Amino acid sequence: MTNQVALITGASRGLGRSIAVHLAKHGVGIIGTYLSASKEADALTREIEALGGKVEMIALDVRDTATFPTFAATVAEKLKTKFGAERFDFLVNNAGHGIHAPLSDVTEEQFDSLIDAHLRGPVFLTQKLLPLIADGGRILNVSSALVRVTIAGYGIYAATKAAMQTITKFMAVELGARQIRVNAIAPGAIATDFGGGVVRDDENVNAYVAGTIALGRVGQPDDVGGAVAAILSDGMGWANGTTFDISGGQAI
Ligand code: NAP
Repeated sequence: MTNQVALITGASRGLGRSIAVHLAKHGVGIIGTYLSASKEADALTREIEALGGKVEMIALDVRDTATFPTFAATVAEKLKTKFGAERFDFLVNNAGHGIHAPLSDVTEEQFDSLIDAHLRGPVFLTQKLLPLIADGGRILNVSSALVRVTIAGYGIYAATKAAMQTITKFMAVELGARQIRVNAIAPGAIATDFGGGVVRDDENVNAYVAGTIALGRVGQPDDVGGAVAAILSDGMGWANGTTFDISGGQAI
């Protein structure tokens, strides 16, 4: 994977951060985005540079499609100046947020925010970045096990993730001529800041969820970071248009 470059949205914390570190350890240059956590973005930069890797962190709100042309121009410029490249190899659509929003209470603002971050954003960001993705590259969309496991309050969020699993197949078909493989991952519950950090910080929730997982514990960010590095490796090049369940065997 040496001399390849990955663009990871939401790389400042949680799964995106771990994906960035795992890929950097394989020699992949990292372009990461963050929404507002500039200190965390700086900390990631220091960690990857200490590993001898190259990294560039750029602020981006994936809900704000109007900024995507400027973002794409910045990526093109950083590819040239920082990585000596015209194109990047891996796009990981990871950024997102959780909102507990049952049907009885969900507002149109919450609905729009979830759709914008998890569906509209990744679709149009991918569209704008397509000219910058190398032929033979990979796109990985981060979905969720909530597409398959039903937990009250997460229906709108899960619906956006289901849509991304479907779009993943169509992206694979449409980009096959360029030998770009497109897959998704569906992580189970992972101990991050997601949803207010409830899986990590609430002992009762943590214990309950751990009891639904075959391996007997909730996931850690590195469980996903390692899996993504494996999925993006050359040996997985025949996997295309599919969703990988990365849940430790949750609710199977
Ligand atoms: P997290 O720890 O809260 O990290 C979220 C990351 O996304 C941060 O880097 C954040 O940037 C960025 N972000 C949030 N909203 C954004 C926006 N509108 N535009 C751009 N960046 C934004 O969450 P996580 O657990 O790593 O979740 C990452 C992805 O995994 C999400 O798509 C989530 O749906 C999915 N997922 C999570 C779990 C889980 O249990 N944790 C399970 C399945 C799927 P700042 O740091 O600047 O705020």
